[in-house]
Amino acid sequence: DKVYDDEVREAQVYDDEVREAQVYDDKVKDLLGRMTVEEKLGQLQQLTWTGDTGPGGGQTEEVERAARAGLLGSVLNLHGAAHTNALQRMAVEESRLGIPLLFGLDVVHGFWTTFPIPLAQASSFDPAVAERDAEVSAKETRSNGVRWTFSPMMDVTHEPRWGRIAESCGEDPYLNAVLAVAKVRGYQGDDLAAEDNVAACAKHFVAYGGAEGGRDYNTVDVSEQRLRNLYLPPFRAAVDAGVATVMAAFNTVSGVPAHGNPHTLTGILKEEWGFDGLVVSDYTGVDELIAHGYAADGADAGRLALTAGVDMEMVSTHIAGHGRQLLADGRITEDRLDDAVARILRLKYALGLFDDPYTDEAAAIGAPTPAALAAARETAARSMVLMKNDGVLPLDPGAGSIAVVGPFADHTDLHGTWAGPGCRRFPTAGVLDAVRAAAPGADVAHADGQELAQAVAAAEAADVTIVVVGEEPELSGEAAVRSEISLPAGQQELIAAVAATGRPFAVVLVNGRPLTVGDWVDGVPALLEAWHPGIEAGNAIADVLFGTVNPGGKLPVTFPRAVGQIPVYYNRENTGRPYDPANADEKYVSKYLDLADGPQFVFGHGLSYTTFTTGEPRPDRAALTVDELTGGACVEIAVSVANTGGRAGDEVVQLYVHDPVASIAQPLRRLRGFSRVTLEPGESTVVHFTLGAEDLGFWTNDPAGRFIVEPGRFDVYAGTSSLAAARCTLTVH
Ligand code: BGC
Repeated sequence: DKVYDDEVREAQVYDDEVREAQVYDDKVKDLLGRMTVEEKLGQLQQLTWTGDTGPGGGQTEEVERAARAGLLGSVLNLHGAAHTNALQRMAVEESRLGIPLLFGLDVVHGFWTTFPIPLAQASSFDPAVAERDAEVSAKETRSNGVRWTFSPMMDVTHEPRWGRIAESCGEDPYLNAVLAVAKVRGYQGDDLAAEDNVAACAKHFVAYGGAEGGRDYNTVDVSEQRLRNLYLPPFRAAVDAGVATVMAAFNTVSGVPAHGNPHTLTGILKEEWGFDGLVVSDYTGVDELIAHGYAADGADAGRLALTAGVDMEMVSTHIAGHGRQLLADGRITEDRLDDAVARILRLKYALGLFDDPYTDEAAAIGAPTPAALAAARETAARSMVLMKNDGVLPLDPGAGSIAVVGPFADHTDLHGTWAGPGCRRFPTAGVLDAVRAAAPGADVAHADGQELAQAVAAAEAADVTIVVVGEEPELSGEAAVRSEISLPAGQQELIAAVAATGRPFAVVLVNGRPLTVGDWVDGVPALLEAWHPGIEAGNAIADVLFGTVNPGGKLPVTFPRAVGQIPVYYNRENTGRPYDPANADEKYVSKYLDLADGPQFVFGHGLSYTTFTTGEPRPDRAALTVDELTGGACVEIAVSVANTGGRAGDEVVQLYVHDPVASIAQPLRRLRGFSRVTLEPGESTVVHFTLGAEDLGFWTNDPAGRFIVEPGRFDVYAGTSSLAAARCTLTVH
């Protein structure tokens, strides 16, 4: 019968997989047996391509020489089918064993087609769009000779000052995990060798987002339980989803640099989780073991990194450079070296590089396709968060006159950080042009806001004004840390001047991190968080402003009131002296003397042009035992949601869990489920969530990794932000 057939088919698929793995292993073993120590060490080396032109341009002779000599495993930053083919030919046709090179590149949110920054994609609360974006990126990347992207980044962070928050999916481990899995699936598909797929890289392992003060590369001192409950879950999920590679992080983890950390790289990642892919260093992270004060010199750095679990060294050359001597001295083992080489060769086999190392130059995608642009536009619009709206939005496309003002009103680089090669080639659609296209009958005026008087005059003359402010792309991303995260100079003054006209207006933010919006937000009738929306920025912003798309995004990160309040995040623990708004004058409680309690905008917040109500969370059973849970039993939670307004729209129903009494104090809330639904006016539906051991338990401080579920009462909250109030309780015996 059917079930039996499915089982047989499943067993067959499994058999095929085992056989395939076996074949790779046989091939890898055979190749390893024929390699010299130098050739093995060469596989562990990745060098960067720094020239503007491809091979033969003579600018990176070192790379070409190493490729020809068979002393190079991988190259980053070279792309283009003709360029990668030229270098590949040197490796395959001229080196002794003909082992193909693996080309890697940071394709973080698009190759030619720039999608919104990852933090924006997280705001969509929609893994399907994240997966599709990764698919589009993979296709463009692979057709241009590159089979490995250094993405997705899944560094949970509480630090809006940190510029790399733009690359992350924000402050929540569950949201990061769900989106990481979607992206891994999108990049890798079912078969790495298939023409549209690339190997993904889970980065940065681990706790990079915990950098003290938000200063990039800074110290991270983290308890085992926080490491495991906060920072590790997205990586674990990515590994379970089959991510091919993992990148080490620049920071220390409780005193031990991540690149030389045997506990995290080998103990947890490779042994506890069984990760059999390759670990790549982050740029010169191996060399940086010296600056960290952890390695005495280059040889020591190479030894520490390889021994801890780094398999491939990016840019610096300590493992390959000192490997022969380290082996001779017995400071590294041949077994470990072979293991690292095997991990690299296995990936090259899995990617089909040995069968077909080249890229079809005639088939290379040279520009964003209309379908890719449509996907980018849809994702960007789905990622926007309506933070505030007194009814100014949506705009009337029949408006007589509209002013579009501010430094980003007619800006054509809203790609954001790590925009990929497309950034230099393809400008973004600007807001001004998009507004003109969306309201063809309107008189559309523009002022960049440098001259306040000009902007004020435009606002006074217009039915409605759109103020587009925010951060230049260079203000977020790697090494782009800010100690103040308010709007850059002059922009608040612009908003105040427009507000002073008394005319209707809306503010659009384009930025790579949460900003402290300060007092000015009180005087703003409508605020739309657009993030850095990518290549279709202007069109997507216009789609939302005019209501062609009803915004449904939610904040993946808390917006602080002030920098002095950071870190401020929703899934915090309580103190022994919690602040109580009903008793605000109480002295000895956990609060600031000079700041109102709580954030400006909470995690999960986001409005719509329609309204929704959600019902109580309804569990299918009120009690179960620890044994049932650890044996795989789940509680089903049903939550009803209704569109009570006058327009079709999206709501993200969110489910949070709290364990009020536990052997390790638990976060006040933990997101454990979300679902973005689209409802017509008057329509309602029921969303179903499941809660199992993973959702109710936690990791202890045991370095050996102990996950426990404790008996007791659990509170489950459902609603439309992290302030969700509707509650049910579960009892675990
Ligand atoms: C970044 C990585 C990136 C690498 C290669 C580093 O500076 O931290 O995220 O993948 O460079 O470009």
